[in-house]
Amino acid sequence: MEDQIVINNTKVIIKIGDITEENVDAIVNAANSSLMGGGGVDGAIHSKGGKHILEECKKLRETIYPEGLPTGKAIITTAGNLPSKYVIHTVGPICNGNWNKNLEKQLYNAFYNSLELAKGKNLKSIAIPFISAGAYRCPKEKVATTAKKAVIDFIKSESSLDEIRFVLFSKEDFNIFIKSFKR
Ligand code: ADP
Repeated sequence: MEDQIVINNTKVIIKIGDITEENVDAIVNAANSSLMGGGGVDGAIHSKGGKHILEECKKLRETIYPEGLPTGKAIITTAGNLPSKYVIHTVGPICNGNWNKNLEKQLYNAFYNSLELAKGKNLKSIAIPFISAGAYRCPKEKVATTAKKAVIDFIKSESSLDEIRFVLFSKEDFNIFIKSFKR
C-alpha cells in the first residue's frame, strides 16, 4: 500500500513496509542516545545490517559524542549489509504518552536534521520510520503532523533529495500517518 504527494519536485511517498528492505541512499534509524542498538526499528537495522554499523557508532561515541547523541541530532554511518548506502541515526524524544512544545521541537529537529544530513551528503533518496511512535510513545497523530511540518520546511530550502519515503510498519500506523499528514 502506498500513497504519494509531490511538493516542489520532491516526491513524498507514504507506504507500509520494513525499512531495512528499502533500496534508498539512506534509511533513518529511530535510535536511542547510546547509539549502541536497542529494540524496534533500531534492533532490526543493527541485526540485519551487521556489525559494521555498531563499530562506526562506537567510534562516534569515543570521539564526538562521549555522552551519547543528544535528542534531535543526527549522525550518519555505513548501512553494512542493508540495501541502502547509509544509515542516518537520530534520537526522537521520549514522550510516554505526553505532548508539549518542547517534545514537538525535539521531534521536529530529529526529522529536520536527518533530512539536512542527507542533503549535506548530496543524497537523492531517504526512507524515514515513525520516529518516537513506538517504545518512546509519542502520540502518533502528533508525530505525523510534526513530520509533515519538518518535511515541508525542508523542501522549501534548496535540496538534493528527489524522494522522501515514510515507511510505516503496520496498516494501522499507515492510516494514522496518512490522515494526520494530509490534513
Ligand atoms: P522509538 O523508540 O523512537 O519509539 P521504535 O523502534 O520503538 O522507536 O518504534 C518506531 C516505529 O518503528 C514504530 O511505529 C514501529 O512499529 C516501527 N518499526 C519497528 N520495526 C520496523 C521496521 N523494521 N521497519 C519500519 N518500521 C519499524
